[in-house]
Amino acid sequence: MFYKAISVKHGMTLKDLAAISYKNRAKVPVQITVAEDKISILAYVDYDNVMKQKFHSKRPKGEGVTEDFTYADAFEKGVRRYWEKEYDFSYCGLGKATLDVTFIRKGSPDYPEGQRCFRVRKARISKTSFVSSPPFRLFWGLFAYISPESAMLNWSLKHPGTVNMQLYKNASGFKRVCAHEFGHILGIGDAYEAHYRFYYMAPGTEDFMMYHNTCVQPQEVMMVLRAHQTGRMQYFPIKFSLRRYLKGVKKSVSQSRVFSRRQKKD
Ligand SMILES: [Zn+2]
Repeated sequence: MFYKAISVKHGMTLKDLAAISYKNRAKVPVQITVAEDKISILAYVDYDNVMKQKFHSKRPKGEGVTEDFTYADAFEKGVRRYWEKEYDFSYCGLGKATLDVTFIRKGSPDYPEGQRCFRVRKARISKTSFVSSPPFRLFWGLFAYISPESAMLNWSLKHPGTVNMQLYKNASGFKRVCAHEFGHILGIGDAYEAHYRFYYMAPGTEDFMMYHNTCVQPQEVMMVLRAHQTGRMQYFPIKFSLRRYLKGVKKSVSQSRVFSRRQKKD
């Protein structure tokens, strides 16, 4: 699998490896430029009215605090905090490279006319945050990718998806989730044991952004580059085992029972 290792011929640079070119930049909301030792991500974004509001924190004792930054500010800060750093690609025979992310918001003076963007909005239907494709792209992704993960997000360069965010009680938690969801926008799948992964965890990914929202690993950056080079979403390996699947289903059913019981008490 790509995330484990790729072999690089002697003398190759990051730029040779990830030759990324877009036919029509105006139609690509998130664009990556790769230089010898620098990866630059340019993201055109549009926030809904909730995201443009001031962040509302809830302290442990219950009192609410209105912060001096918006949810949109926190989204960008979170992405940059986790993704912007120096990566060591020696695991695949390459050197080090830094990564930076620039956001340009729709409606700002820098926003080019006719440029397509991706959207970030408040999640309405789910209790978790997620990235979804517009309705016309849903479900046939299953056949395009032959992966259950693609039913919800049928990723492409022109349609990287919409981020649906929950309004978490504290900004640091919100930012971590933003960094994870941005990984999907960049074109990579989940690594954790989600039901659409048949409760299978990609081996060795405990410290990955796409597992625990902990830290972006060089392997994840490589997968992002490959997604943009090929125009196809990159998935972590997935395995099906009936025993694991049934165990996972049983666990999630009992969890949701506990949850609804708690709700009745409230
Ligand atoms: Zn995810």
